[in-house]
Amino acid sequence: MKEVILKIDGREVRAEEGMTIFQAAKKVGIEIPHLCYREGLAPTAACRLCVVEVDGSRTLVASCAYPVANKMVVRTDTQRVQEARKLAIDFLLSDHPYDCMTCEKSGSCRLEKYAYEFGIRKSRFEGERHDYPIRGRNPFFERDYNKCILCGRCVTVCHEVQYCEAVDYSERGFATKIAAFFDRSMQETPCVFCGNCVSVCPVGALSEKAGRFKGREWELQKVPTICSYCGVGCTLVLNVKDGKVLKVTSDKELGINRGWTCVKGRFGFDYIHSPDRLTEPLIKRDGTFRQASWEEALDAVAEGLKNIKSKYGADAIGFLVSAKCTNEENYLLQKVARAAIGTNNVDHCARL
Ligand code: SF4
Ligand code: SF4
Ligand code: SF4
Repeated sequence: MKEVILKIDGREVRAEEGMTIFQAAKKVGIEIPHLCYREGLAPTAACRLCVVEVDGSRTLVASCAYPVANKMVVRTDTQRVQEARKLAIDFLLSDHPYDCMTCEKSGSCRLEKYAYEFGIRKSRFEGERHDYPIRGRNPFFERDYNKCILCGRCVTVCHEVQYCEAVDYSERGFATKIAAFFDRSMQETPCVFCGNCVSVCPVGALSEKAGRFKGREWELQKVPTICSYCGVGCTLVLNVKDGKVLKVTSDKELGINRGWTCVKGRFGFDYIHSPDRLTEPLIKRDGTFRQASWEEALDAVAEGLKNIKSKYGADAIGFLVSAKCTNEENYLLQKVARAAIGTNNVDHCARL
């Protein structure tokens, strides 16, 4: 890749041709404010918060989408740039509910963060505001488009990462909004409820239903873990309060999945605290289960396997291992099958 040399805030920066100014600045530790840009998604250049000055350009340019060039001179922190960013936040707040007190996103909301950093308590611009009904007939997430800043992240992720095209822009001008097909419920679209749109929404427009009003963002302990559903091994982040998992999120910096998940990993976690979970071994005698100690249960399993083997041979026994176990646990079980029982009848739910 050809290298270009440019100046950003007086510093010489070496970047690859094709990189954006935003990426080149990040490379040398210059963080440019942004709402709509998200690493891993095509830029929409919608929020105008990442604008910078470039020598030779009369207008400010959106650094998330503007490519670097040799000998380019960029300034990311001038008064003109800061005023433009402040104005962009002010415009967004002019049609935004001041709901931070009860908004689930408060504490991790990027609009709240920048309003705080630019010292904007209230928009200067009075006028018409949207009053959309809150949508959320599905069991997983709620859509409150009154808080939507039209960054387009949910549309991009749904089209370019999940390939579902369940949501898109609808209408024009002030009436522009994000909508599912014909403004229907998510169940009536190709949505697979992966929740990736929820994970990229920079504000509280899309939010998980789980954990609602049970803990503020700053009270949640973030515990990275590996999903226990299948052999892909995605990294999830458990949001824990008082020893209870309130919701599952993801982190683009962690794991092979780079923040993307499927519906099971993100929303299928209620089993963790289910009162129906087995916590002790049960042995079935005369058609009914009774509680047993681990020693008793393991003896019963060993006895049963021994009897089958002596009566019908080792190949009458088969072992089904599980993607919910670790590699090490699955390795040990096939070892039991081959070395202790003497059969190669081992199979796995994620084989195909
Ligand atoms: S989306 Fe952000 S700015 Fe809007 S109410 Fe929620 S926390 Fe506040
Ligand atoms: S949950 Fe997944 S499939 Fe459904 S709208 Fe969001 S990104 Fe698209
Ligand atoms: S719903 Fe969220 S991600 Fe989608 S456009 Fe609105 S603010 Fe952006």
